[in-house]
Amino acid sequence: MEPRAFYVAGRPAHGDHELTVTHPYDGQAVGRTTLATTDQVEAAVAGAARVAATAAALPAHARAAALDHVTRRLAERAAEIAALITAENGKPVKWAKAEVGRAISVFRWAAEEARRFSGDLQRLDTDPAATGRIALVRRVPRGPVLGITPFNFPLNLVAHKVAPALAVGTPIVVKPAPATPLTALLLGEILAETDLPEGMFSVLPLPNERAADLVADPRLPVVSFTGSGPVGAAIRRAAHDKHVTLELGGNAAAVICADWSSDEDLTFAAQRVATFSNYQAGQSCIAVQRVHVHERLYDRFLPRLVAAVEALRTGDPRDESTDVGPLVSVEAARRVEAWVAEAVTAGATVEVGGRRDGATCPPTVLSGVPADAKVCAEEVFGPVLVVAPVADDRAAFAAVNDSAYGLQAGVFTHRLDVAFAAARTLEVGGVIVGDVPSYRADQMPYGGVKGSGVGREGLRSAMEDYTEQRVTVLTGI
Ligand code: NAD
Repeated sequence: MEPRAFYVAGRPAHGDHELTVTHPYDGQAVGRTTLATTDQVEAAVAGAARVAATAAALPAHARAAALDHVTRRLAERAAEIAALITAENGKPVKWAKAEVGRAISVFRWAAEEARRFSGDLQRLDTDPAATGRIALVRRVPRGPVLGITPFNFPLNLVAHKVAPALAVGTPIVVKPAPATPLTALLLGEILAETDLPEGMFSVLPLPNERAADLVADPRLPVVSFTGSGPVGAAIRRAAHDKHVTLELGGNAAAVICADWSSDEDLTFAAQRVATFSNYQAGQSCIAVQRVHVHERLYDRFLPRLVAAVEALRTGDPRDESTDVGPLVSVEAARRVEAWVAEAVTAGATVEVGGRRDGATCPPTVLSGVPADAKVCAEEVFGPVLVVAPVADDRAAFAAVNDSAYGLQAGVFTHRLDVAFAAARTLEVGGVIVGDVPSYRADQMPYGGVKGSGVGREGLRSAMEDYTEQRVTVLTGI
């Protein structure tokens, strides 16, 4: 097994320390790479700084052509990439395929946006003193981007940083998660096939401490981070006055409102909640972790939920029929197991669950959980769901807001007034009406409030984020 190359200013490279990547399901080695040396990191950052002005002047057709190429090659290599995601991350192959499909769309939309992203023409003569003047408002890159990505979407969350950078014409240095670097390196291989100027992109496997040095480097004025809250807080401190986007964790909630009451409604909601509290073994920042059910519906909802969770197939993620695979590591699974045990000691009832097997945790539903138990108050990042009855919709919204996080919430209602009340009341970045909080369309603004982060991703939002407005006032027009 040859070590996979990483990319320094667009060129393949090897470092001096090996990193072996293992399959979370069986611990077998699935690939190797090496860690970038200090000199290679310097070359990547210097290359990004050097090419920034050239990149900003790249014509739209050149940026779009590179993005079109990536779109095409991801599609051609989709099966191979999905298998690689499953191998290094452990997510069931059906979810890995879905992730590749999403990343293909992200690059395709980025190519389209690259062709139309420009600016604005603003008349200024609403003020008599500005008669005869107009403003051309252009968007210009803020400068090279540092993208730091988590393990749970090894392709799509890298795509969410790389695609908008290329679309606006700004260089990017990517630091993928240590557990799942191989997919990002494969993306680097595809990027290296394009005609992008040298220095436009680097993909650097690095240990965390050395990534911290990159965060402080003034030649990378934009930091786009997706990962956990504590690391996000450290990055915010280390980034000083840089432009920082933080996409952090959550403990997303769904609400089953009083009007969502037919048998069909409850079965649908139970299936969606069961699926999306356990997809990717709960390792998604918007996996459903809490479900607040109107008390009149609770006794009809709970058996449906338990049946839907019991119907999920847990096992080898390489098997097409597997719904729930392992967590990213045995340590992660042990932590989840300990949090469930803590909740049970505090009085929770296990409605459905079982025993941990290596890195695989059984899909688990808990009721009667005290609000301060970790499985409720913190981000569980495992296949664990807390279900609770609530007196009414208002109490449900208060329960959703009783959280240090605020990424997305799902509200099952048919009523427009309830939907708008939720949109007004819930302290989150997004409210999904009629579905789980786990719904994300990759082009929509996406991000959180409170402990869930700062700023928004989603193609257009990231393109705006990576650029700033520059005004040219024309006189005598
Ligand atoms: P993590 O915070 O442990 O690591 C994320 C990245 O940060 C990795 O690349 C890691 O190597 C790097 N890192 C760690 N310490 C660093 C430091 N001091 N300086 C610079 N970089 C450092 O997160 P993870 O375990 O890989 O991912 C899971 C977390 O990501 C969860 O909390 C999840 O909710 C969050 N997440 C958020 C979103 C979102 O869009 N809001 C999406 C996916 C995942």
